[in-house]
Amino acid sequence: VSNRFRGFADEHLGDLLADLKAFVQLESPTTDKAAVDRAGQYLAGRFADAARADIVWHRQERWGDHFEARVGRGRRRVLLVGHLDTVWPVGTLERLPCRMDGDRMTGPGCFDMKYGDIQAVWALRAVVESGAAEDKTFVFLANSEEEVGSPTSRPLIERLARESECALILEPSVGPEGAVKLWRKGVGMYRMHVQGVASHAGADPERGRSAVLELAHQVIDLHALNDPELGTTVNVGVVRGGTRSNVVAASAEAEIDLRVRTMTEARRADERIKARPAFVTGVSTRITGGLNRPPMEETPASRRLYELARRLAADEGVDLPATGTGGGSDGNFTAAAGVPTFDGLGAVGDGGHADHEHIIVSAIAPRLAWFTRLLVEL
Ligand SMILES: [Zn+2]
Repeated sequence: VSNRFRGFADEHLGDLLADLKAFVQLESPTTDKAAVDRAGQYLAGRFADAARADIVWHRQERWGDHFEARVGRGRRRVLLVGHLDTVWPVGTLERLPCRMDGDRMTGPGCFDMKYGDIQAVWALRAVVESGAAEDKTFVFLANSEEEVGSPTSRPLIERLARESECALILEPSVGPEGAVKLWRKGVGMYRMHVQGVASHAGADPERGRSAVLELAHQVIDLHALNDPELGTTVNVGVVRGGTRSNVVAASAEAEIDLRVRTMTEARRADERIKARPAFVTGVSTRITGGLNRPPMEETPASRRLYELARRLAADEGVDLPATGTGGGSDGNFTAAAGVPTFDGLGAVGDGGHADHEHIIVSAIAPRLAWFTRLLVEL
């Protein structure tokens, strides 16, 4: 069964792709403020022109400026979240141009997540032109530094989430079916510092206390915290230590990544990581760091949003699956603020942060249609 929004999506597909191409060609690596600001100006202009949005800027010194695009005057608030930044340095377009390749469109950041931002522009335009959803105000937040963990946008995202009924995150979907995300793991980042005693490995070995040996025991102990049943992963991804093969190592350090499904498990694993046992006598171990993004847990309210989306997608002939991921997004912050969060609503495609990044063009019209209806009917 088709609907008026599917007609709108089919009619405007070419315009949407032109917007997306212009946006992708404004390369916007997180660390280049001037470049991210150019992309932000462009996107804000599209929200203002196409969806009659009021733009509220949140200026930043170090990072690109964030903005809110506010659409509608209704009492019920719905938050949409996207990011302007990509992991790709300026000049990547020369190597990975933005172009059509059969049913694919390629280009740095097209999948993660410039398509999602542009989808929001066109969905809000369709909502505004239809006169539907006049009971709602939609607030789209464009974050300039998501790829480095949202250091300055986090408090803004959390505040906007608390003011909203729900949060819709336009990050890319999963797999060729365009699966949405109902959960994301929480992320912990730690550093372990091991202090031993140096000595000559040949002349004076018994006076040494090896930090490298202690570190080896610690790595094995930390990896034992992995629990596939609970979805908990611990990865010691980087180790460093010692100076020369003939010196008993005086110091060593490691970098540790933790992923957890629930807040309960986050607390348990965090305690276990911080309470390090001692293995080598005379060596001390210190842990710094902690939980960076809390887990986005599935809730009955987020499940209801998914059930509605699945019904609307079915009208477009799309069988919409739901899944989750070990990777974080701003959805972790909105969910932890206690707001029903529905993520992975953006692009269908593949290759985020990789050379084969692309979106699937034939998936756009049906997705834009059911997403627009979701905005109206939720
Ligand atoms: Zn992203």
